[in-house]
Amino acid sequence: MEILNNYIDGSWVRSSETNTVDVVNPASQEILGKVPHGTNTFADVDRAVEAASNAFRIWRDVPVMRRVQPLYKLKQLLEENAEDIARTITLECGKTLVESRGEVQRAIENVEVACGTPTLIQSEFSENIAPGIDEFMIRQPLGVCACIAPFNFPGMIPFWFLPYAIACGNAFIIKPSEKVPLTMQKVFHLLDQLDLPKGVINMVHGGKETVDALLEHPEVRAISFVGSTQVAKYIYGKGAANGKRVQAQGGAKNPVVILPDADIEMSVKIITDSVFGCAGQRCLAASNIITVGDNGNIKDALYESARSRTTGYGLDESIEMGPVITADSRSRIEYLIEKGVKEGGNVLLDGRNAKIEGFEKGNFIKPTILEGLPLDGDIIRTEIFGPVMSLIELETVEDALGFINGGRYGNMACLFTSSGANARKFRNQAVAGNIGINIGVAAPMAQFPFSGWNESFFGDLHGQGRHAIEFFTQTKVVIERWPKEWSRKF
Ligand code: NAD
Repeated sequence: MEILNNYIDGSWVRSSETNTVDVVNPASQEILGKVPHGTNTFADVDRAVEAASNAFRIWRDVPVMRRVQPLYKLKQLLEENAEDIARTITLECGKTLVESRGEVQRAIENVEVACGTPTLIQSEFSENIAPGIDEFMIRQPLGVCACIAPFNFPGMIPFWFLPYAIACGNAFIIKPSEKVPLTMQKVFHLLDQLDLPKGVINMVHGGKETVDALLEHPEVRAISFVGSTQVAKYIYGKGAANGKRVQAQGGAKNPVVILPDADIEMSVKIITDSVFGCAGQRCLAASNIITVGDNGNIKDALYESARSRTTGYGLDESIEMGPVITADSRSRIEYLIEKGVKEGGNVLLDGRNAKIEGFEKGNFIKPTILEGLPLDGDIIRTEIFGPVMSLIELETVEDALGFINGGRYGNMACLFTSSGANARKFRNQAVAGNIGINIGVAAPMAQFPFSGWNESFFGDLHGQGRHAIEFFTQTKVVIERWPKEWSRKF
């Protein structure tokens, strides 16, 4: 079985680490590859940072109009290879092909927005702040920047950062999740075809040790992390202590509120898609479904929509939900469901012990619905990261906002209603950075920041759009006087 190579200084190179972990197809358990994993990846990081530092010295002075040209070619290559990349995502991550195709599309949209960097990077100029004196601000790149990615969107998340970072003149290193490294491996074969100086983009495989090497390397100036809150906190703390700029996106527990005046038929479909899409392994997955007041037969409708969702192998185009990422993840989700029952919850729909014909060893859990969880219990506030919906009944919008705003996360909050006044109040008062009104997955388009709040985000500037341009540049303010001209005029 092939051990994945790193991509450093424009070449595919063998890792210094001989220990590996397997990349496993979550549906079939087939081993798809082996990823270097251990302390010797420190040496790989050293090589990548050296190559990136050298490249940065050249790349920073290339005019921005020239720096975005490779991105146009990248968009074309991603489009031409979209199906191949999508199949790789499904193979190693498990999600359906439709979901994988959507993911690749989101990556392409970030490349498109980053093509606008010549405009986005423009800055401010004040003429004559005092007689004969002008003041202006310029944005300069930082240097070597790195991205540490999670398993659940292997084709999209690196693109929240990479195209903006290089368009701004930085050199970049990606460390994909060791669970799903094949997608970026494929993408790097495309990046290799771009007209970029060697070392501008690099990829190093590994796990915690590789991350620590990036966090400790003095020449790494900025870290973009996406993953669990526990690790996000660690990255933010250690990165900042080592003087780096850090943006660290963490986990979530997303609420959706349904008011009695919502369009129930439309809402039910959208909400079940939000909960069970990507098998619930999405940081914007709806998890706590809160019905307010009398919602008629909404519970039955949600139950039916969840029960009838087909689960199976992602490459089978007829299925609607794939497996979860690992056997450990499946056990953890089943444990949390059981814990919910111990806390007093009732399993309305039980997707545990799912068996899929032909994929008996797969990490499958079918859609599951819990109800009656205590509001002050653990499970109602725990990110399950699996296909589990928790039903909550509350009396008023204020009760719903009170519940939502008492949580530790703040990634997304959604409301289903036909009342403008309630929608307006909700978007104003809900403590969450991404709000959906009659939307199930409030995923910001590439031109908007991916705005998590509270323990869903540590840092100041988010991924995507203008925030990314600001994150990947440092401002320099210049105050200028030309004495001869000044004395002639005044
Ligand atoms: P994870 O935190 O386990 O891993 C993310 C990355 O960190 C991986 O590259 C991994 O190698 C590395 N890592 C893991 N443990 C580490 C440690 N102890 N020290 C240093 N590095 C470590 O996350 P995951 O399981 O891959 O992804 C799922 C999580 O990501 C969920 O919590 C989900 O909500 C979150 N997520 C958040 C967003 C967002 O935008 N807020 C988007 C996608 C996923």
